[in-house]
Amino acid sequence: MTKEGATAPSALYDGALLQGDLFGERRLYAQVIVDVPAKQTNRPFDYIVPPQLQSWVAVGSRVGVPFGPRTLQGFVVGMSDRTSMDAGKLKPVEQVLDLVPPLNPELVDLARWMSRTYICHEITALQAMIPGALKAKYEKMIAFAGEETHSPAGETGRQAYMFARSPEEENIVAFVKQKGAVPAEALLRRFPDASLMLRNLLEQGILAEINSVKDRMNAKKVLYVEAAADRATMLEQAEKLGAGAKRQKELMVFFAGQPEPLPLAELTEKLNISAGSVKALAEKGWLSVQEREVYRDPYAGRQFAKTEPLPLTDQQRGAFVPISAALEEREHRVFLLHGVTGSGKTEVYLQSIQQCLDQGREAIVLVPEISLTPQMVERFKSRFGDAVAVMHSRLSQGERYDEWRKIGTKQVSVVIGARSAVFAPFTKLGLIIIDEEHEASYKQEESPKYHARDVAVQRASHQGAVVVLGSATPSLESYARTNERSADRSPFQLLTMEDRVEGRPLPAVHIVDLREELKEGNRSMFSRGLYKAIEERLHKKEQTVLLLNRRGYSTFVMCRSCGYVVQCPHCDISLTYHQVSRTMRCHYCGLSEPEPKKCPSCESEHIRYFGTGTQRVEEELGKLFPGIRVIRMDVDTTSEKGAHERLLTRFRNKQADVLLGTQMVAKGLDFPDVTLVGVIAADTVLHLPDFRAAEKTFQLLTQVAGRAGRHKLPGEVFIQTYTPDHYSIVTASHHDYASFLETELEMRRERGYPPYCDLVLITFSHEQVPMLVRAGESFAVRLKDKWKRSGAGPAPERGGLCGRGVDAPYFEVYGPVASPIPRIKDRYRFQCMVKYRGDIDVSGMIAEVAAAFDDTVRQEKLQIGIDVNPQVLM
Ligand code: ADP
Ligand code: ZN
Ligand code: ZN
Repeated sequence: MTKEGATAPSALYDGALLQGDLFGERRLYAQVIVDVPAKQTNRPFDYIVPPQLQSWVAVGSRVGVPFGPRTLQGFVVGMSDRTSMDAGKLKPVEQVLDLVPPLNPELVDLARWMSRTYICHEITALQAMIPGALKAKYEKMIAFAGEETHSPAGETGRQAYMFARSPEEENIVAFVKQKGAVPAEALLRRFPDASLMLRNLLEQGILAEINSVKDRMNAKKVLYVEAAADRATMLEQAEKLGAGAKRQKELMVFFAGQPEPLPLAELTEKLNISAGSVKALAEKGWLSVQEREVYRDPYAGRQFAKTEPLPLTDQQRGAFVPISAALEEREHRVFLLHGVTGSGKTEVYLQSIQQCLDQGREAIVLVPEISLTPQMVERFKSRFGDAVAVMHSRLSQGERYDEWRKIGTKQVSVVIGARSAVFAPFTKLGLIIIDEEHEASYKQEESPKYHARDVAVQRASHQGAVVVLGSATPSLESYARTNERSADRSPFQLLTMEDRVEGRPLPAVHIVDLREELKEGNRSMFSRGLYKAIEERLHKKEQTVLLLNRRGYSTFVMCRSCGYVVQCPHCDISLTYHQVSRTMRCHYCGLSEPEPKKCPSCESEHIRYFGTGTQRVEEELGKLFPGIRVIRMDVDTTSEKGAHERLLTRFRNKQADVLLGTQMVAKGLDFPDVTLVGVIAADTVLHLPDFRAAEKTFQLLTQVAGRAGRHKLPGEVFIQTYTPDHYSIVTASHHDYASFLETELEMRRERGYPPYCDLVLITFSHEQVPMLVRAGESFAVRLKDKWKRSGAGPAPERGGLCGRGVDAPYFEVYGPVASPIPRIKDRYRFQCMVKYRGDIDVSGMIAEVAAAFDDTVRQEKLQIGIDVNPQVLM
């Protein structure tokens, strides 16, 4: 019954294959959101749940349903015994795609909230919650999962298993066990009356459901070896083997005393034998070799020494006590933990999690992708062991799926991961921790354009869970909410840790004026101060971290004779020079061109690349300090799997003097011998066309400075800059968040930016400019009109935000104007910016206006992108 087609589900429990419900017929309807992201389908459709599927379908299930001529995949978002539609005309659910629903009612609600808040289709939000492997083509397999069962009488697992099964169930188990893993469909065909039994076995964890991604590359299979006869027989047969088969004899004796299956690889290593001996015995029928699918645990084989909770410092206790009280009360609260670098925030997280687990609840820890380092993971793994699942993008799709699966099957109660881990399908969530809460990477830049912080708060408020937002440099948005006065949003509670653990001092920071250096004739990228400091560290055998902020410092190619800069012919942006391949690449459309030998404009040969790449810094270090050992960490050196970890391990083992890198080196690292941090050029981010430029600069400098002197040895920091008087640089050098905050808030208030209002960025793109201008203007007019008719108040004069009371409602549409990057892939771009304040459903208004453009979008190939509270304004 499988229907072919791009959107047809590829694996299924067919209605025709599953057995009837024993409890007779009952009317049941499922509300299904189908996998077609379009306005017309952005609502649930009713389907009949046929009796044989009723015990398998729940809110959160993925199903296959007929939709027009096709079978589509969809999510069940509601179940009911009645329908408002004409029941006679409804079609039945055809397939259930997973035996255990991948989502639950709470996540389904969350998807609805996301679709309203971020103005996206509900299906887009639902799809964002499940791992990629589930979306890929896959084959449903049933595997033997072991004999651990929950026996009411408390017998050992094996006995419970032996006694509780019917002969028919035994047959199924034996069949699956023998095969290792069986396609679910084949199993149901082999035992046509067994679907209820099968479900029983799955629920008791005797069998497990595995989605093996069709392309077998991803599915991790391991060969297991096991004795095929009982102990006595094995020993007896061993005796009969001739002297020439010494190895085989050893193996037989070994397995006589080894009832459990062993992975072949482990066996050959342990006994120092060849796979050939195993094969020979398997052919004789004394050993059995099975292929098994295993969890691909990326940390398998790694030993994590168990750590005990540290006695908390006074400041840590000051933070922990209120968190602990809220957990105890099972009360939804949001804490903003503002703790300087090295103040011991992680220990506060760990002990809060411990308490949450002691309550039988579950915890999610979000960290920015970039700081999801092995070091970070280790701190959680070594406290909570196997209870921790890790999810980050460097795992393969299969690995990530395995980790996610452990959540559904309750094998883990802590998930540590990047942004999307906020959707971990826990049902007893007690705590969500967001480390480095100010990081821009918590915002997803493609649809659904959600912010993990907002999603976390939303989830937690429904589950009575606690949220802890931690940072040394909280975002202005979060900080402002500690002073929230509006009635409809509850305030965040501020917790502060002002000092480093054990009274360790924050490092001394020197600002170096690069203009002065140039005046004095120093053309090197290292100031004399930084040069001396590195030299000193080399001498004392201490370590240095150097940050080169690549962003905005792109290595573009420029003609020295005429000033021509090589640009992408399709996007209005200069091409970036890649030294390894000697090519020029466009970061927007991927265009790649060879390095020009002559200037295309004036034919001069003096055309070369400018700007400072990490490679150039590395070269210069080599020239200035012959023999210096440098580890370079950037996109190029860390693209390979595991490379990041290897580089850091080498640095930790002191196999290098300098760790040089991009933002990657700024976050989360904790090395005892790092006593010097150098920032090659601090102002590279300052000049981005972004109202957060100063905030980002302050955060980056504070973070990277925080890498120095975290242990016994005191630290020192050099910040090189062309704008030494900028308040973000000056305040960062004094570790003075409060002063930075004061100045920055004032700027934001004057210019009308968050946290004094909310923003929505609406980007239009089309091949022709006049079309864009028309669409943009019409959009803006309609939106203003909606606002007027909402009666929420008159739009103030342009720029009027600052003059008005901070709490007064406000609404204005700016633009359309050309976007900061006016063309990408031959499409021109215009944007409107909505600024608003107050409890108004602006998302709802924008969604309605956007819907009115649906026809234009389709007919004219206009694209409209909507970003609620954008992090990137390009
Ligand atoms: P943060 O995340 O705030 O930058 P960390 O959590 O990395 O700081 O802690 C900094 C250092 O202090 C770590 O080496 C950690 O092991 C140590 N530390 C944290 N809490 C304590 C404590 N209560 N007693 C002793 N050492 C601690
Ligand atoms: Zn030229
Ligand atoms: Zn391009």
